[in-house]
Amino acid sequence: MPIDFTFPEETQQVIARVREFCAQVVRPAEVRIDAHAGERDVLVSEIAAMRKAAKEWGLWLPHMPEEYGGMGLGHVDMAAVSAEAARTRFGPFALNAQAPDEGNMHTLHHWATPDQKERYLIPLCRGKARSCFAMTEPDVAGSDPTLIQTRAVPDGDDWVINGHKWFISGARGARFAILIARTEDDPELPQAGNSAFLVDLPSDGWEIVRDVETMSGSHNHCEIRIRNLRVPAANMLGGRGQGHLLGQARLGPARLAHCMRWIGQAEVALEMMIERAMSRFAHGSLLGEKQGIQWMIADSTMELYQGKLMVLHAAYKIDRGEEFKSEVSMAKHFVANALNRIIDRAIQVHGALGYSTDTPLAGMAQQARWARFADGADEVHQWRIAQRAIEAWSRTGSVGPAAGDLPF
Ligand SMILES: Cc1cc2nc3c(=O)[nH]c(=O)nc-3n(C[C@H](O)[C@H](O)[C@H](O)COP(=O)(O)OP(=O)(O)OC[C@H]3O[C@@H](n4cnc5c(N)ncnc54)[C@H](O)[C@@H]3O)c2cc1C
Repeated sequence: MPIDFTFPEETQQVIARVREFCAQVVRPAEVRIDAHAGERDVLVSEIAAMRKAAKEWGLWLPHMPEEYGGMGLGHVDMAAVSAEAARTRFGPFALNAQAPDEGNMHTLHHWATPDQKERYLIPLCRGKARSCFAMTEPDVAGSDPTLIQTRAVPDGDDWVINGHKWFISGARGARFAILIARTEDDPELPQAGNSAFLVDLPSDGWEIVRDVETMSGSHNHCEIRIRNLRVPAANMLGGRGQGHLLGQARLGPARLAHCMRWIGQAEVALEMMIERAMSRFAHGSLLGEKQGIQWMIADSTMELYQGKLMVLHAAYKIDRGEEFKSEVSMAKHFVANALNRIIDRAIQVHGALGYSTDTPLAGMAQQARWARFADGADEVHQWRIAQRAIEAWSRTGSVGPAAGDLPF
């Protein structure tokens, strides 16, 4: 019976260590950061201290190979580590395993030339640089990258780029961007029109217009104007026309990494829901003794379980080098929606307190909302999932291959 849902002793120790690290280092730092809200110096020095501590605790860069100073964990191990770290706000950042740098590191590891790795990947791994990924544009649907209008034109040994991007996470303070721009006029496939470029920042021609204010405040998701930006030909990442391929290769593991962090958040919300239900008294009994509340707890528990299984299975497929698109797509859709439902139920059980900012739930709900459309909107995932199910049924008479391709 080769199916084994236990983690090796070594992985269990890493998970326990991350839990301990978050309790001893990250949570106290978060309390100090909150006590000095808006004071950038405090934020910067607390983050630097957390990152220094992560190195000392042997928890730095869990997702990267040891040759880059990482812990060399696979995606299955990372599922547990990321979920544990994401029970805190700054946990993933302290370990240097936060979006978008984590996805960019995987991308560079896979696609960059040795020289590009030296100049971009190594500083990222060492925590000496931050990065951003610039694909989405305000004027065309981000769900369809074949519509990208930002344009790169060859000029001598350079490319000259013009365009407009927005919602570029982490752009302010990033040392470089992976920028997706259209380079091909008449590609063989519509998906082969874009290429990726490594852009040193700050750069003439790259203007941060604003940090877009969102429903949960400003979080360094920037609007960028690109005017006559010159990028050396050697800074193309991957080949001409491979921007879409690179984006897809990046998005698989990056989407799953989001799911791992969302699972951590969903678990926190469920635990808060239960804690409140077991301490609040109304109409003759504790809330937790009422069936209506138990249903919410039960539904949330089942969804957490489903989400964990889906994420573990998708991670397992990535680790084994198997096709994973379908599983990541289903996991991303399911976990994003489960996260929103679980947080919403937790707010419901907390009543007015849940709606206030006295607990983290209101902030968690605002953050969770974007999970349903960023990195692939719900409907786009559903469209692809249905396509794969129909294709599998038409080809084999069974939907099995599209439903996780499990051995039964
Ligand atoms: C917090 C946050 C951080 C982000 N960070 C980055 C980043 O770092 N870099 C970056 O490049 N982008 C980033 N984005 C942008 C994100 O990737 C896009 O929001 C996403 O790709 C969707 O694109 P869009 O917003 O243009 O929505 P659109 O593509 O305009 O879609 C809007 C809606 O249309 C519907 N829809 C779209 N296609 C279909 C379809 N085929 N069938 C049915 N319905 C459909 C869906 O309901 C969808 O939600 C970020 C966004 C957020 C909110």
